[in-house]
Amino acid sequence: MRAPDGLVPTTAVGVSGVPSGAPEALRDAAGRIAMRRIAVFGATGSIGASALDVIARHPDRFRASVLAAHRKVDELVALCVRFQPDLAIIADASFADALRDRLAAAGLRTRAAAGVEALRDAAAGELCDTVIAAIVGAAGLDSTLAAARAGKRLLLANKESVVMAGQLLMDAVRDGGAHLIPIDSEHNAIFQCLPPVATGRRLDVAELGVRRILLTASGGPFRGRRRDSLASVTPDQACAHPKWRMGRKISVDSATLMNKGLEVIEAHWLFGAPPDRIEVVVHPQSLVHSIVEYADGSMLAQLGNPDMRTALAHALASPQRVDAGVAPLDLIRSGGLQFEAPDRETFRCLDLAYRALTDGGTAPTVLNAANEVAVAAFLEGTLPFLAISDLIEATLDAMPAEPVADIEHLLHTDLTARGVAQRKMRQGFC
Ligand code: NAD
Ligand code: MG
Repeated sequence: MRAPDGLVPTTAVGVSGVPSGAPEALRDAAGRIAMRRIAVFGATGSIGASALDVIARHPDRFRASVLAAHRKVDELVALCVRFQPDLAIIADASFADALRDRLAAAGLRTRAAAGVEALRDAAAGELCDTVIAAIVGAAGLDSTLAAARAGKRLLLANKESVVMAGQLLMDAVRDGGAHLIPIDSEHNAIFQCLPPVATGRRLDVAELGVRRILLTASGGPFRGRRRDSLASVTPDQACAHPKWRMGRKISVDSATLMNKGLEVIEAHWLFGAPPDRIEVVVHPQSLVHSIVEYADGSMLAQLGNPDMRTALAHALASPQRVDAGVAPLDLIRSGGLQFEAPDRETFRCLDLAYRALTDGGTAPTVLNAANEVAVAAFLEGTLPFLAISDLIEATLDAMPAEPVADIEHLLHTDLTARGVAQRKMRQGFC
């Protein structure tokens, strides 16, 4: 089990100061951590809001130097008024003029840019040392890769980019000398439960005596329901997550358990763990964010209230610790911790993700693309909830795994899989 260079836990209790191998830019002349300049990609989203909340709490440590969003110009400009970044980017280039005009009207010195190239350039550019990759879906891959290649501190929430292009992304992290810290709460928890390793060394999970990684899952809003009771659930019901407030795409993924499936694949790449060492445990309270089990029988877990600001504060300040604005977890009042097996018959997406991981090559890219098509159709009201897994399975069946050649191959596979899934939907495959 091998994880890539660059993914190095430096955060265990007792570690303080900047590790010797951390990028020099993170120290000031006196050896203290310097002000971090942070690009928030997906600034108008749920993770973006949590990240900016933490950044705002520590103006002495963090500065939001680049803010990027898809189309919501007004929301982006409002964030610029508050955070005064050097650069604001709107990914949809048709909003370029609107962004420039509104920044000027607001009397801001923030420069405006638009389009995917602007995202890529900013991810790799001089205006930031840290990139928070919080764009939703495959759209985040390009800027995430650019940040990895440029050797940034990469705070990774955009799990779809790892699922789509795991090996290539990890290669880019290693070759670029990037420092990757997971934001997904489970992976951030695992990262915190791994032992400190001399920075710059390759992290090898088997060598570290890790027996299993246990990913916890809330079970989503439909936990305990049988398959036949889910035929006519609505998008709003699927997005009413019992524990986490998130964007609509990941909320549907949580309702189908595909989110956990994507996270199994994410854990495989981030921690170098084979599929049979990654297990999913339903934990409805969402207080234990994941567990690492060691060969000696020890299980180390990270606990806390379900609030993404904990993971963000951890990653932003690592290896130090700062206030995240999250209330302390009251264990006495928590009502106890419950664990159960996932219902794999009702929530078939979990096994589809394991299948794609085991098939390897392009299969996870196909899985991710079909899932994005299916979830978008469900949210638009054109695909029933139970057909999400059927459509993904049919797309996987239609596109046998191929060895990954390069990024162009993956992007082509992504497009093809979307076309196959759309066609199957039009043909009423189910
Ligand atoms: P969201 O829908 O709330 O926000 C998405 C953000 O991405 C928005 O700022 C939007 O403007 C931007 N965006 C969308 N399409 C874009 C495009 N084509 N180009 C550029 N920007 C685009 O989503 P979220 O819940 O914040 O999730 C973001 C990512 O973080 C997802 O990959 C999700 O799986 C992951 N994640 C989220 C949470 C959570 O608690 N929300 C937890 C773990 C992981
Ligand atoms: Mg998660």
